[in-house]
Amino acid sequence: MSRFFSPKYQGLTPYTPGEQPKGQKFIKLNTNESPFPPSDRAVFAAGLEAKRLALYPDPTASVLTKTLANAFHVAEDEVILGNGSDEILFFAFSAFCDDASPALFPSISYGFYEVFASFARVPYVKAPLCDDFTIDTSAYKKNTHTVFLANPNAPTGILLPTSEIEEILRANPDRVVVIDEAYIDFGGESAVPLIRKYNNLLVVQTFSKSRSMAGARLGMGFAAPELIRDLQTVRNSLNPYNINRMTMAAGIAAIEDEAETRKNCQAIIENRAYLNQELCKLGFTFTDSKANFVFARHPRMGGRELYLKLRENGILVRHFEKPEITNYNRITVGARRDMEILVDTLRRILEEQQ
Ligand SMILES: *Cc1c(COP(=O)(O)O)cnc(C)c1O
Repeated sequence: MSRFFSPKYQGLTPYTPGEQPKGQKFIKLNTNESPFPPSDRAVFAAGLEAKRLALYPDPTASVLTKTLANAFHVAEDEVILGNGSDEILFFAFSAFCDDASPALFPSISYGFYEVFASFARVPYVKAPLCDDFTIDTSAYKKNTHTVFLANPNAPTGILLPTSEIEEILRANPDRVVVIDEAYIDFGGESAVPLIRKYNNLLVVQTFSKSRSMAGARLGMGFAAPELIRDLQTVRNSLNPYNINRMTMAAGIAAIEDEAETRKNCQAIIENRAYLNQELCKLGFTFTDSKANFVFARHPRMGGRELYLKLRENGILVRHFEKPEITNYNRITVGARRDMEILVDTLRRILEEQQ
């Protein structure tokens, strides 16, 4: 740290992204990326748009906004775009949290929530999960905090039913409730249709997981026009050009190629069922994940030990150094062949250990 670094940031612990290995050939199951390439149409559109990189992108992202509004059956003023959904989450922490409305989220959830709250310098509270890793919804019904819930939750993959989300929305009429639907396309029911019913609801989604575009950095938020305007104020005060030209072009094409997204999600859902079945045969226990990852532990092996053994064998998964989940690993559901290699490797590791 230099002597010039502001004391206001000296206590900041940045987010630790999953490893992005260079060089070695790993089967990469650690950051929940898609094993499938982006839509051909998105790749082609981005390539064409590269010719116009001399010009700033449209700061209102009007074509992509219109395309998303149509696809999600909302109005254009109910949509905001972000450089990844992470950026929209950051806008929300900045816009809707303060001493009178501290942020509230589960103690086991997306690690960025805590980082964003710290960076935005807003207070936050973490509510413990129940012993079975489900969300204790009573903690979120106090009408005192700005609520952030990933649904399905990460890294557990557990889905909160829409009826529960509605109860939380109704219990917080004077606070914003943010539902982070990064993984909703792998088996959950989206809360987007509820934005007309609840003007305190912000739903955030991303192109990173189900649309195979993590590298493009594109996310979207859906809410009542008033909430969107507040988020636009933050966005326009930071970076009105937050969506670059190539990403915008790719995003439009990807939404127009929804059939490709559906097909890929279906393949992931099938591979998840296959992986769960094989993990079960090997003696693992795991949560009922509705995301593109499984969250599993083995009674005979610690989480970190298994993570390291897999790594030695060329497979990267995600292990979190948190006492409550230290026996677990989060394993991205990938292509079928990679799942077969994973299962064979796990079997070998467990046999060697006996
Ligand atoms: C991956 C992820 C995001 C955001 O990813 P972006 O790439 O920034 O869109 C948000 N929330 C959760 C829970 C995630 O897992």
